[in-house]
Amino acid sequence: MVHFLEVPFMNYDIVIIGASFSGLTLAHHLPSHLKILIIDRKKTLDYFIESTGLITQATHDLFANFIEVDKFIPNRITTISVIAPDFKKTFFSSTQEPWIYSTDTPNLIKEMEMKLPKNVELRIQNNFQGYSLNEKENYPLKIQFTSTKNNASQKNNFVRAKFLVGADGSRSTVAKSNPKLSKNKHFLAGWEKVFYGDILLGKEPKNTVYHFWFGEFSLGYGGWLSPTLIEKKPAFRIGLAKLAKDARDLKKINNFIKILLDKNMIQINEKKEILSFASMVPIGGPLKNIYDKHTLLIGDAAGFCGPFAADGIKGSLVSGIVASKLLTQLLEGNKKALYNFHKEIEKYNKLMTYYRKQLLYRFIWNRMKSNRTFHAMFDAIAREKDHFLDQFCDSKDKNKSLMQVVLKWRNIPLLIRYGLFLCWDILNRSTFDSKNVRD
Ligand SMILES: Cc1cc2nc3c(=O)[nH]c(=O)nc-3n(C[C@H](O)[C@H](O)[C@H](O)COP(=O)(O)OP(=O)(O)OC[C@H]3O[C@@H](n4cnc5c(N)ncnc54)[C@H](O)[C@@H]3O)c2cc1C
Repeated sequence: MVHFLEVPFMNYDIVIIGASFSGLTLAHHLPSHLKILIIDRKKTLDYFIESTGLITQATHDLFANFIEVDKFIPNRITTISVIAPDFKKTFFSSTQEPWIYSTDTPNLIKEMEMKLPKNVELRIQNNFQGYSLNEKENYPLKIQFTSTKNNASQKNNFVRAKFLVGADGSRSTVAKSNPKLSKNKHFLAGWEKVFYGDILLGKEPKNTVYHFWFGEFSLGYGGWLSPTLIEKKPAFRIGLAKLAKDARDLKKINNFIKILLDKNMIQINEKKEILSFASMVPIGGPLKNIYDKHTLLIGDAAGFCGPFAADGIKGSLVSGIVASKLLTQLLEGNKKALYNFHKEIEKYNKLMTYYRKQLLYRFIWNRMKSNRTFHAMFDAIAREKDHFLDQFCDSKDKNKSLMQVVLKWRNIPLLIRYGLFLCWDILNRSTFDSKNVRD
């Protein structure tokens, strides 16, 4: 019996925390007889999508199964340009078919929100706080959240559920609230700014993405430049990422923008940026313990993000789709349904194998410390520029790899040179690390 002062809690089959790529994909794929609640702390879902939004063909096709994704693709990218640390050496590599697509990410997420099925209730401006468990109840989880609306009292709200999903990004609160679940420990810190303007480098800047191998300027990742359209006006996204331990150096993004302006590689049409955001990308690879009896992590929260390329949209979609299938089985009584989670992910063009390869590239890249080593690697890869993208094209979709591109007899002298510089960087690691801290 309910006490006369007690407000009865709403009951849900599944509560999802996080309404971005992974949470929304899961909500779209769960069967209509399940009662679903999805919670996000954002003001509106299209407010600050912390992603450049580049997707491959296979990810495009996953979206196309439930959203009219083509309406949100301003640029079809057929070319990659790699720029060496001195900003002088550059190579371009192209394919016939689009290599990747840039997306109008805020509107894509908005569309995913607008088309949510009727059995899904969305509550925004609500911050998940934690949960308690009572196995004796039909709905054993009591989930707590608070409103983030301006002027809202910080009153706790509760709902009950059979199952809780953490789709709440790289620093998941759901993971933190359950000691049995693994947590991401290794991150890249990324900062991206979006401007109205034009890219002036190369023949087809509207179909090109640019990767800047900065070497000492940005150890851990590098910089990128990607064309887009905002409100039908030409725009571009420019970003810088570094290992999280060097996050305070991210302000160098302003130096980066200034260098590109000075070198006439970009033109900014309106002084102020349209958008600016910084966020953490998990780069430790898929986490081991991503579920227990009543909770599951998906997307970035579960580490489904390329540890080297920092590409997590595909992992978010795939893990959302896999979760929808296995959670349905679980709620129908198959207690072991989630055991095969990683095996099911592997079925998507060997996505788990892709992550393992990416961990190896990350291991090597993290040991490259000097411009000299980055130049040596650039020279080896630039030699293969005609087929670089052909081979590398959609590597996570087609099981191609960077190794296949460069490991050729004719490249042996360049690779030996690169290997020697790499060994030198490893031996001098402490010197470089302390120099980097001083800078
Ligand atoms: C700068 C940058 C550029 C990137 N570019 C690309 C790219 O081009 N291509 C690519 O494939 N990947 C890219 N990524 C990675 C990609 O964006 C992520 O892998 C992807 O967004 C992960 O989706 P997600 O749904 O798992 O989590 P997120 O997109 O991080 O969403 C988590 C959601 O949970 C909500 N949330 C968090 N905590 C709570 C809480 N306590 N209560 C309520 N709500 C909560 C947040 O508001 C958010 O909406 C990039 C990442 C960064 C940082």
